[in-house]
Amino acid sequence: LRKEGFTVIPSVNWDQVGALNKVREQLHMSIIGPIKSPELYESWGLSRPAGVILWGPPGCGKTLVAQAVANEAQASFILINGPELLNKYVGESERAVRELFQRARSSTPCILFFDEMDSLVPRREGTSSDAGVRVVNALLTELDGVQDRSGIYVIGTSNRPDMIDAAMLRPGRLSVRIFVDLPTEDERVDILRTIFRNLHPGATDAELARLEPVARDPRCHDFSGADLGGLHIKAAECGLRRWLKGEKTARDVDDEDWEHALATTAKSVTN
Ligand code: ATP
Repeated sequence: LRKEGFTVIPSVNWDQVGALNKVREQLHMSIIGPIKSPELYESWGLSRPAGVILWGPPGCGKTLVAQAVANEAQASFILINGPELLNKYVGESERAVRELFQRARSSTPCILFFDEMDSLVPRREGTSSDAGVRVVNALLTELDGVQDRSGIYVIGTSNRPDMIDAAMLRPGRLSVRIFVDLPTEDERVDILRTIFRNLHPGATDAELARLEPVARDPRCHDFSGADLGGLHIKAAECGLRRWLKGEKTARDVDDEDWEHALATTAKSVTN
């Protein structure tokens, strides 16, 4: 699905997302609700599609929740990679922006997802390039397109929202900022369970019971959701390796597998 530019409704749903309940609520208010119950939101004067910035450390589920939002709202989803858009030939980036909104207009409701927004719209003053300035201007023009924008919802992600051009963040543009933080200890338990349940539909109670102590292990401190995904891969690979070698008969991920994973995985976000 990450294939650039395709217009599809993502298959990711909320069952695949651990924790992040508050983020979900906020996204409901600004995107899912307006798409599913337009009259209600209009009657409260909330008819203009909001633009949202999801920000926070890498690997904490920003792309995942954006896809789950599109799925829940049954909206098309177009993924745009910021740096790639900017690296087009002179003049091509602006045309690409116009074409993206054009494509979105032809399949509303639609979520335009700009990954790494900060690279795409660096502050116009100071060091930013000419190409950067023109892309910002093209985006502002589209975001301000009052009539034409109905049904088009923009979500941008950023690790550094302070790097985004201030004009982009004004009301009516990308004015809703939602912080997606590293998970707490309890949230790690929820996320690891979610990852495991989705990948092992036939998991036994014993396997599920092992996940809580793993996620609470001090070595998981400051792990992102992506790190927990990586931890699971290491544990499962260890289990398979040992099973293939005949070192164990049960086809499960056991304590020894998790211990191996914990001993060889490091957090990816340094703070
Ligand atoms: P980046 O800033 O690097 O783009 P991101 O915040 O968009 O990161 P995602 O790409 O959504 O992060 O997450 C990476 C992977 O980590 C997901 O595909 C998923 O496997 C796992 N993951 C992250 N957060 C969660 C979560 N809350 N629940 C379940 N899985 C998660």
